[in-house]
Amino acid sequence: MRDRFERSIEYMRVSVTDRCNLRCIYCMPAEGVPCVRHSDILTYDEIARICRIASTIGISRIKLTGGEPLVRRGLPDLLKMIKDIPGIEQVTLTTNGILLKENIHELVSNGLDGVNISIDTLDSRHYADITRGGKLEEALEGLEAALSYPDLTVRINSVPMAGMDQKEWIRLAGLARKEKLDVRFIEMMPIGLGKMFKGISGDRIYEILKKEFGNAEECAEKYGNGPAVYVRFPGFKGKIGFIDAVSHQFCDRCNRVRLTSEGCLKPCLQYGMGTDLRKLIRSGSDDAHICHEMRRTIYEKPACHDFTRCISGINPDRDKDNCPEGKENRQMFETKDMSQIGG
Ligand code: SAM
Ligand code: SF4
Repeated sequence: MRDRFERSIEYMRVSVTDRCNLRCIYCMPAEGVPCVRHSDILTYDEIARICRIASTIGISRIKLTGGEPLVRRGLPDLLKMIKDIPGIEQVTLTTNGILLKENIHELVSNGLDGVNISIDTLDSRHYADITRGGKLEEALEGLEAALSYPDLTVRINSVPMAGMDQKEWIRLAGLARKEKLDVRFIEMMPIGLGKMFKGISGDRIYEILKKEFGNAEECAEKYGNGPAVYVRFPGFKGKIGFIDAVSHQFCDRCNRVRLTSEGCLKPCLQYGMGTDLRKLIRSGSDDAHICHEMRRTIYEKPACHDFTRCISGINPDRDKDNCPEGKENRQMFETKDMSQIGG
């Protein structure tokens, strides 16, 4: 369906848990996030029901995310339930890859179309620092296992941070030279702990990569579900993508909504606003009513984020009056960490 700004909304990111087996410094506090009671998390039947209703209003692609989606038991079963819904054309997964090797076979058998694996560096010591103890070789085993399925779309997601060695980005990008995978550099967003880190823009990374790999060909065709801009360097099997939500705002092309693990349908990552679908489901609402509420939430999707204001140091919680949506339509900025929203 289209929102009030005529954007076509066809993609839903579904968080299945806010727990994680890693503690990336820009995403989760060292002690983890306060545990949500299991009974407060949507069941797989509830998630599938929401996806079924979403499919009737034009959501055709689903991304399973978290927290770490593979820490929730039975994830391949959920994937199959969603894949079987008429109108859902694609189901993909975003994971840190640690548990991928042991799950990939079942995921692919149940219809997984693509997997994004988050790896910020190929330096194992630095990886352990960023993830607070993660083992790079486990993520790489997950990657290798994914690459053994030639029909699966495989992408590496990496969030470059100020202070990293340029060689780390060159090494990561180099994976797309020898393997059939894309490497995407995601600019740090000032969400949760991300506010404490300085990101690096895709423009800067692109400059560095051009010096190493030569001039790239820009890929004009629409590729992937989102706002990434892709290029291909000479001799590369895969593409390099840049997702710059801060330095190149792409809200006018935003095609997505998010479902949190507790069942809140969020129309925009930055705002706290959303509709409590769990409450509707558990109070006995029928599909027509839930559908109506989903339509309303999507229709009212905010025009754009205002990350620059967060970056400039204004405390969004104290600064609600300056919300870009206007005083009469104030919405609190999101205060949760990315792992709780479903990044
Ligand atoms: N655990 C899974 C993973 O790491 O891929 C899925 C959830 S994680 C929140 C999804 C993606 O969000 C990861 O690629 C992570 O690097 C990214 N992310 C987390 N916090 C971010 C931030 N503040 N800015 C940009 N990306 C962020
Ligand atoms: Fe976990 Fe993913 Fe957040 Fe890292 S980025 S802490 S792997 S949810």
